[in-house]
Amino acid sequence: MKPLLRNLAEMTAHRDHLRLEVSVLSTLLKLGHIVQVRALELFTQDRDTMLRPRCWSENGQIISSEHDAAADPRRMPLAQEPGLAQCIATGGESAQRSEPHRHTLWLPVWLAGQASTCLEVTQSRAFTQHQRDVIMGVFLVYQNYQSLLDYSERDALTGLLNRKTFEEQYARQADSAADEGTGAPRQWLAVIDIDYFKSVNDRFGHLYGDEVLILVANLLRSQFRSQDRIFRFGGEEFVVLLRCVTLAQTRQVLERLRAAIQAHAFPQIGHITVSIGCAATQQGSPVEALGRADQALYYAKEHGRNQVCFYDDLRISGALQARVTHDEVELF
Ligand code: GH3
Ligand code: MG
Ligand code: MG
Repeated sequence: MKPLLRNLAEMTAHRDHLRLEVSVLSTLLKLGHIVQVRALELFTQDRDTMLRPRCWSENGQIISSEHDAAADPRRMPLAQEPGLAQCIATGGESAQRSEPHRHTLWLPVWLAGQASTCLEVTQSRAFTQHQRDVIMGVFLVYQNYQSLLDYSERDALTGLLNRKTFEEQYARQADSAADEGTGAPRQWLAVIDIDYFKSVNDRFGHLYGDEVLILVANLLRSQFRSQDRIFRFGGEEFVVLLRCVTLAQTRQVLERLRAAIQAHAFPQIGHITVSIGCAATQQGSPVEALGRADQALYYAKEHGRNQVCFYDDLRISGALQARVTHDEVELF
């Protein structure tokens, strides 16, 4: 029992989701009879739920995928594993598949009602009740700890990522964008600010204001892909790190978001709009990229609101230069 407890202690020493995942896999791998452990990532692509191995065991080591989920050659539709698909669809605790000499146990990691990861344990003999109990025990410690970690990274009102996690996510996104070997990394940063939000609070009260923030957060979640990262930066300001191949795609996505928010009928309140500033993140620090997106947002606010402005466009046209020199630019 001692090594297992030590492994659990090591596991919960991590403050990073991926390292925690690697650690739980190596703990499970040491349990005996187990031939393979994997952490499967669940994500949506073209409306299908897909899965791909994000970490797995190979020759006693745990390896993580170098691919971005959407471009991973090992990804496959979840529907190809009907037992697991059924378990996820019904919010189940576990699923199993037994073939001669290959018995697989799946444990979806449920965080706030969503499963975006599933642990998979495979062994050559059927799982005994005792083995299942031990695996389940390790898994529950892992899931509780993931959930605590997740909670500390999210904004309490909207459930979006909080500002504290921005720099780390930025670095991680930049790394995986560069990994794809597609030439220049393509990551975009958009700052989204609700127009005249103060008047929503003034006219309807703070509770209705909060309700709008929650609904806007839901619209954001529905408009972006699972690889994009959405933050609430405080107040009525949101930041999105977008993985897009081209400028044209980014424009399209942000314009679609702007239009979707404008078209949405908010209960009691009616319609609201947002202004969006966007910048590419190839150069400089996260703070510099934020500064550029924020300058574009400021320009959008000053020139009619309810629009998407790109920092590079404004620089090329000379519009931003003129503004920046005689106005103070609001930085975060
Ligand atoms: P602009 O179009 O220039 O962005 O105008 P605005 O009124 O949206 O901007 P301003 O920055 O003047 O006001 C933001 C308001 O957001 C002020 C505050 O009442 C409101 N606010 C900030 N945080 C919260 C929150 O957590 N809940 C609610 N209900 N309101 C908030
Ligand atoms: Mg505002
Ligand atoms: Mg604001």
